[in-house]
Amino acid sequence: MIKINFEDFTRMLERIENTNSQNEMASILSSLFKDISTEEIDKVCYLALGRIAPQYEDIVLGLSEKTAQAAISLASGSSKSEVKEETRDIGDIGEVASKMIKNRENPFKDYFDYTGELSVKNIFDGLRKIASTSGKGSQEIKTKTLASMLIEADDIGRKYIARLAEGTMRLGVGDITILNALSVAFFGSKLRKTELEHAYNISSDIGLVAKVLQTDGIKGVNELKITLNRPIKSMLAQRVSNFEDIKNKIKSRDISAEEKFDGERIQVHKDGENVKLYSRRLTDVTSQFPDLVENIRKYVKVKRVILDGEAMAYDFENDLFGSFQILMRRRRKYDVKEYRKKIPIRYMLFDVLYVDGESFLNRNYPERRDKLETLVEESKYIALANRRVSSDLDAIDEFFQECITKNLEGIVCKSCAKDSYYRAGGRDWTWIKWKKEYISKLSDTLDLAIIGAYAGRGRRSGTYGALLCAAYNYAEDTFETVSKLGTGFSDEQLANMPEELADARIDKIPARAVVTKEMEPDFWFTPKYVVEVLGSEITRSPVHTCNWKEEQKQGLALRFPRFIRWREEKSPEQATTTEEIVQMYKGQ
Ligand code: ATP
Repeated sequence: MIKINFEDFTRMLERIENTNSQNEMASILSSLFKDISTEEIDKVCYLALGRIAPQYEDIVLGLSEKTAQAAISLASGSSKSEVKEETRDIGDIGEVASKMIKNRENPFKDYFDYTGELSVKNIFDGLRKIASTSGKGSQEIKTKTLASMLIEADDIGRKYIARLAEGTMRLGVGDITILNALSVAFFGSKLRKTELEHAYNISSDIGLVAKVLQTDGIKGVNELKITLNRPIKSMLAQRVSNFEDIKNKIKSRDISAEEKFDGERIQVHKDGENVKLYSRRLTDVTSQFPDLVENIRKYVKVKRVILDGEAMAYDFENDLFGSFQILMRRRRKYDVKEYRKKIPIRYMLFDVLYVDGESFLNRNYPERRDKLETLVEESKYIALANRRVSSDLDAIDEFFQECITKNLEGIVCKSCAKDSYYRAGGRDWTWIKWKKEYISKLSDTLDLAIIGAYAGRGRRSGTYGALLCAAYNYAEDTFETVSKLGTGFSDEQLANMPEELADARIDKIPARAVVTKEMEPDFWFTPKYVVEVLGSEITRSPVHTCNWKEEQKQGLALRFPRFIRWREEKSPEQATTTEEIVQMYKGQ
């Protein structure tokens, strides 16, 4: 196994940056994975994704532009205002670093110390140092360490170090691209991706999967166990267009209809007194909900457990659930104490995934639910989702009506079959959602990734006139356009849009995006922001690439799209999939 030097690594990053094809990206990465050292394989995975740790670890880069500029100023010997000016002209901090810094004696050598050739590991460790330094004097350490790293690298290396430090890597590599690359590197084809993906779904750590694959082979990967403080990808629900289809799709005689909450999905990991909370995006949100942490300690009666549920804003005086929008005000780093009082929450539990060293993923739903009932002392702060179990659809419908009068979103119907396992990261027919929108004849909403924007004209000049929105094609690992969205925004939302989306702006079509000539926008965005859109129907389209059929030269499009809200808690890969859109199209 060879250690790869940083220079070779950055040449490869450049090749990835210059391609739009996910297959080519996977092939470039796989050639690298073939003979890389165990010490570096995980680091390469993280860095290619623009990170320095798995998503769930609270170690993130993302230095402010000002700090990155200060480091470039130190490294280049230019003044801060010169660097600022270059950034204004060029836009990309990586290009600025590459242009302004020249090889020279390094006055900050002590801050970034290494021997021999500059390696991936050296750079990774330097970046980790920058991210984890805190407290008094930390700003100086961060800037000087970064300056030192920039001096030591070459032009191309500087470009990527600066982008990584600022958190603007945007190579376009996704988790699935890496899993494909690992499969190709170790088995010659993408065929083993499913096993790798399963390991990833239960560990949420792509670096770990890569490392285990390299040291212990596929057997080791298949034996990976779920562990406390490593989130598990959430199981998701399918949808149907007709209520009666619930009965056809769910294979068990009995159906368990549970209340459906429109709050924030939170996975709880309790290890004695130590409690961690993870969001749907697998980020650590523990510090946002200190009240939930206390209540878990108080009301969950088992020592080590992983629970799945939804946090809801709650009006305790009037005994009413609050809306998703109210809950979103709790998403904050500051004033947590104040908002804890202003917007109290109630945690509604619906699943258990692990109890005292034992995985519950392969236990069926009735067993999991029975277990869950023994684990929690219900209180006004924590309760189990109410449910009705029946084989009669009328009874299920009655329960649904009760739920919507309680101002809930609807129900989730769950199979009680022997094999109704918890499918981490899967969208399975053992869970089917049925919402109040469906009966009011409005179609369900779509969550779409923004990949472009069109310049506004007339009243909208100076901002965007419409956004180009894409579904995620999971099978191909691509983003396919389905909608040009220009309706439903308030004037204020419109005016703020260029600034709000600015950090996703790029100057060419994002990697993995598929766009026809006709739909080419004026501005491109790397898939980062997800928007919820309501439409009237799905139709065939000669200009949108969703589920594209080359012979007919046709894809699918959403007619009369209307903006509903931003979905901050969703990553672009969690957008509505092409497969779901095809189902919606067929079900109309
Ligand atoms: P999806 O999660 O399907 O991608 P979404 O985030 O837009 O889409 P919905 O379509 O409204 O959410 O419904 C699924 C979500 O409902 C789940 O991800 C979960 O967060 C939430 N949910 C609420 N109550 C329950 C419940 N009782 N069982 C399972 N999920 C529930």
